[in-house]
Amino acid sequence: MHMTDDALLTATLSRVAFLLVFLTVVLSQPRERFLWHWLAALIGSSLGAALMTQFPASGDAGLALSLITYFLFILSLVCSWSGIRLFYRRCIDPRLLGAMLALPLLLFAVLDLCQVALNYRRLVIALVCTLPACLTVFEIIRPASERLFSPIVVALAFTAYAVALVGTGVALVLDLTLPTLEAVNYPSFAVDRVASILVYFGYIAMAGERANRALRQQAETDQLTGLANRHGAQRALDRLEVARKAGAEEVRISVLLADIDHFKRINDTYGHEVGDAVIVAVAARLQGAVRDGDVAVRWGGEEFLVLLPATDAAAAQTTAERLRDAVIRTPVHTAGHDIPVTLSIGIAEAAPGGDTLSATIVNADRALYRAKRQGRDRVCIDAVQSDEAAMISPTS
Ligand code: GH3
Ligand code: MG
Ligand code: MG
Repeated sequence: MHMTDDALLTATLSRVAFLLVFLTVVLSQPRERFLWHWLAALIGSSLGAALMTQFPASGDAGLALSLITYFLFILSLVCSWSGIRLFYRRCIDPRLLGAMLALPLLLFAVLDLCQVALNYRRLVIALVCTLPACLTVFEIIRPASERLFSPIVVALAFTAYAVALVGTGVALVLDLTLPTLEAVNYPSFAVDRVASILVYFGYIAMAGERANRALRQQAETDQLTGLANRHGAQRALDRLEVARKAGAEEVRISVLLADIDHFKRINDTYGHEVGDAVIVAVAARLQGAVRDGDVAVRWGGEEFLVLLPATDAAAAQTTAERLRDAVIRTPVHTAGHDIPVTLSIGIAEAAPGGDTLSATIVNADRALYRAKRQGRDRVCIDAVQSDEAAMISPTS
């Protein structure tokens, strides 16, 4: 079944339109190498599809046209695979890419020169193209550091390609006398139409989802220390608040507010840059001393918030002492100076059904204020929650 001129024109125009849209995506993020690989893949498959329409009904297009067309399709599949690897920040070996492109063509040329029957050659090409399609699906479904939704669309498309290619191979094995190209390829053309739309939109969605993630990450991270900022803390607070309402295990949540003592003096004595380095060092020590699941936040200039899920006030005291110890144990060494740093920490616990986490932070701030008033370099629990309201550690 040959495409009518109208259908051909529509198909061509939509491919050009898709390509133009994709080009704008690539140009808006030119440093994302995976986008250039996918652009090459899309151009390859579009040109391959255009050349395919020039094949005679018998399907025997001669060595040159066949080689160029198959090269474009293989290029497209291999670039899709390499783009996906780059997207997931996996390395690609240019020699392997070259071999994946060259070997199938060499094989096809040898088969052609040995005058192997056309359908056998098609069978080989179909099977050879299945490999990068399967590899692309594999790259998407194997465990990755970030879980995204949009790659599922692309994985579906390449699964469809792989199934169509294997189907073509099976059809050829069952009846190697199939007369025309259309008889073999018609189902593949149908799959190609649907799958190529999925791939185009899937790639655009992947680039968008990744860019959104990166922006959100940036907006929620403190540039100086790499800890979450207030914005990022809000997401953790919302999540914990939902868990509290649902009565989850994280119901007992404690909050620590830690503030570097006399930090202004450090700035005044050594300069702002050294002050920055001290903040970075303290942040790293805090981050290194909290458990997985605890959330350390740069709450303000030299003030840090630590959220401790599934922790009551008594356990939070122990944690606070550990954090304090991690900071004060050794002076911060920076710019040739050894700068002793001490911390004051306020603790408050959000009991089940009690205060909201925002109110708990206010309580922790009150406890921190008391720690400062009592001489700094110590841990205090919110007086409202603890009758003793005791100073936990003496000034060292
Ligand atoms: P206290 O023991 O009562 O907390 O005294 P302090 O000097 O630590 O507190 P104060 O609030 O008086 O001063 C905090 C200083 O921290 C003032 C501000 O200029 C400085 N600061 C805030 N953010 C930064 C920052 O990002 N880098 C540097 N170097 N300094 C900062
Ligand atoms: Mg301070
Ligand atoms: Mg402060």
